[in-house]
Amino acid sequence: MGYDARFFNGSNDSDMIAIALAEGRVILTRDTQIVKRRVVTSGQLNVILIQSDRPELQRQQVTDALNLNCRFRPFAICLECNQPLLERSKQQVKDLVPPYVFKTQSQYMECPACHRIYWRGTHWQAMTRNLEQYMTSCP
Ligand SMILES: [Zn+2]
Repeated sequence: MGYDARFFNGSNDSDMIAIALAEGRVILTRDTQIVKRRVVTSGQLNVILIQSDRPELQRQQVTDALNLNCRFRPFAICLECNQPLLERSKQQVKDLVPPYVFKTQSQYMECPACHRIYWRGTHWQAMTRNLEQYMTSCP
Protein backbone atom coordinates (compact mmCIF):
# COMPACT_ATOMS: atom_id res chain seq x y z
CA MET A 1 0.00 0.00 0.00
CA GLY A 2 3.02 2.27 -0.01
CA TYR A 3 3.38 2.79 3.74
CA ASP A 4 6.70 2.61 5.51
CA ALA A 5 6.60 -0.70 7.39
CA ARG A 6 9.00 -3.05 9.09
CA PHE A 7 8.50 -6.75 9.68
CA PHE A 8 9.83 -8.26 12.88
CA ASN A 9 10.64 -11.92 12.47
CA GLY A 10 11.20 -13.74 15.73
CA SER A 11 13.05 -10.95 17.46
CA ASN A 12 12.18 -10.50 21.11
CA ASP A 13 9.43 -8.10 22.13
CA SER A 14 11.75 -5.72 23.97
CA ASP A 15 13.88 -5.22 20.85
CA MET A 16 10.79 -4.64 18.75
CA ILE A 17 9.40 -2.12 21.23
CA ALA A 18 12.72 -0.25 21.46
CA ILE A 19 12.94 0.03 17.68
CA ALA A 20 9.28 1.06 17.38
CA LEU A 21 9.87 3.85 19.91
CA ALA A 22 13.10 5.00 18.24
CA GLU A 23 11.55 5.03 14.76
CA GLY A 24 8.13 6.33 15.79
CA ARG A 25 6.33 3.21 14.58
CA VAL A 26 2.96 1.73 15.45
CA ILE A 27 3.12 -1.96 16.33
CA LEU A 28 0.54 -4.21 14.67
CA THR A 29 0.26 -7.45 16.59
CA ARG A 30 -1.99 -10.30 17.64
CA ASP A 31 0.00 -10.70 20.87
CA THR A 32 -2.25 -9.71 23.77
CA GLN A 33 0.74 -9.50 26.14
CA ILE A 34 2.29 -6.53 24.36
CA VAL A 35 -0.73 -4.29 24.92
CA LYS A 36 -0.42 -4.87 28.70
CA ARG A 37 3.05 -3.35 28.87
CA ARG A 38 3.46 -0.05 30.68
CA VAL A 39 4.97 1.61 27.60
CA VAL A 40 1.65 0.90 25.82
CA THR A 41 -0.82 1.53 28.67
CA SER A 42 0.92 4.87 29.37
CA GLY A 43 0.30 5.92 25.78
CA GLN A 44 4.01 6.22 24.96
CA LEU A 45 3.78 3.54 22.28
CA ASN A 46 0.85 3.01 19.91
CA VAL A 47 -0.09 -0.65 19.44
CA ILE A 48 -2.96 -2.01 17.38
CA LEU A 49 -4.12 -5.41 18.59
CA ILE A 50 -5.25 -7.12 15.39
CA GLN A 51 -8.63 -8.81 15.93
CA SER A 52 -9.30 -10.91 12.85
CA ASP A 53 -7.62 -13.87 11.14
CA ARG A 54 -8.75 -12.58 7.75
CA PRO A 55 -6.26 -10.29 5.95
CA GLU A 56 -8.97 -8.02 4.47
CA LEU A 57 -10.46 -7.42 7.92
CA GLN A 58 -6.99 -6.90 9.40
CA ARG A 59 -6.28 -4.26 6.77
CA GLN A 60 -9.64 -2.61 7.40
CA GLN A 61 -8.93 -2.47 11.14
CA VAL A 62 -5.51 -0.87 10.59
CA THR A 63 -6.64 1.68 8.02
CA ASP A 64 -9.58 2.65 10.25
CA ALA A 65 -7.45 2.87 13.40
CA LEU A 66 -4.77 4.99 11.73
CA ASN A 67 -7.24 6.93 9.58
CA LEU A 68 -5.40 5.96 6.41
CA ASN A 69 -8.57 5.72 4.31
CA CYS A 70 -7.73 5.67 0.61
CA ARG A 71 -4.68 7.89 0.63
CA PHE A 72 -2.22 5.15 -0.10
CA ARG A 73 0.22 4.91 -3.01
CA PRO A 74 0.49 1.23 -3.84
CA PHE A 75 3.90 -0.07 -4.93
CA ALA A 76 5.59 3.30 -4.37
CA ILE A 77 8.25 2.04 -1.97
CA CYS A 78 10.51 -1.00 -1.63
CA LEU A 79 8.90 -3.86 0.29
CA GLU A 80 12.25 -4.63 1.92
CA CYS A 81 13.67 -1.25 2.91
CA ASN A 82 10.90 1.34 2.43
CA GLN A 83 12.85 3.48 -0.05
CA PRO A 84 10.88 5.24 -2.82
CA LEU A 85 11.21 3.20 -6.04
CA LEU A 86 12.68 4.65 -9.24
CA GLU A 87 11.52 3.87 -12.77
CA ARG A 88 13.93 1.89 -14.90
CA SER A 89 13.89 1.21 -18.63
CA LYS A 90 13.81 -2.28 -20.06
CA GLN A 91 17.41 -1.88 -21.27
CA GLN A 92 18.60 -0.82 -17.80
CA VAL A 93 17.39 -4.07 -16.25
CA LYS A 94 18.31 -6.41 -19.11
CA ASP A 95 20.93 -8.34 -17.13
CA LEU A 96 19.18 -7.99 -13.78
CA VAL A 97 15.93 -9.89 -14.35
CA PRO A 98 15.20 -13.46 -15.50
CA PRO A 99 14.99 -13.86 -19.31
CA TYR A 100 11.27 -14.72 -19.22
CA VAL A 101 10.52 -11.58 -17.23
CA PHE A 102 12.58 -9.47 -19.63
CA LYS A 103 10.67 -10.94 -22.56
CA THR A 104 7.21 -10.37 -21.09
CA GLN A 105 7.45 -7.20 -18.97
CA SER A 106 8.02 -3.61 -20.08
CA GLN A 107 7.74 -1.55 -16.88
CA TYR A 108 10.35 -1.83 -14.14
CA MET A 109 11.15 -0.11 -10.86
CA GLU A 110 14.35 -0.26 -8.83
CA CYS A 111 15.04 0.34 -5.17
CA PRO A 112 17.93 2.82 -4.91
CA ALA A 113 19.04 1.28 -1.60
CA CYS A 114 18.94 -2.52 -2.03
CA HIS A 115 18.75 -2.48 -5.88
CA ARG A 116 15.88 -4.95 -5.90
CA ILE A 117 14.05 -4.82 -9.24
CA TYR A 118 10.24 -4.81 -9.33
CA TRP A 119 7.95 -5.53 -12.26
CA ARG A 120 4.26 -6.01 -12.76
CA GLY A 121 4.12 -9.79 -12.72
CA THR A 122 1.46 -12.12 -11.38
CA HIS A 123 2.15 -11.19 -7.76
CA TRP A 124 1.68 -7.50 -8.59
CA GLN A 125 -1.54 -8.29 -10.48
CA ALA A 126 -2.94 -10.26 -7.55
CA MET A 127 -2.12 -7.47 -5.09
CA THR A 128 -3.62 -4.85 -7.42
CA ARG A 129 -6.88 -6.80 -7.69
CA ASN A 130 -6.94 -7.04 -3.93
CA LEU A 131 -6.40 -3.30 -3.46
CA GLU A 132 -8.95 -2.38 -6.13
CA GLN A 133 -11.60 -4.29 -4.22
CA TYR A 134 -10.60 -2.37 -1.16
CA MET A 135 -10.65 1.03 -2.90
CA THR A 136 -14.18 0.53 -4.20
CA SER A 137 -15.32 0.15 -0.61
CA CYS A 138 -13.84 3.53 0.34
CA PRO A 139 -16.22 6.46 0.91
ZN1 LIG B 1 15.05 -1.82 -1.16
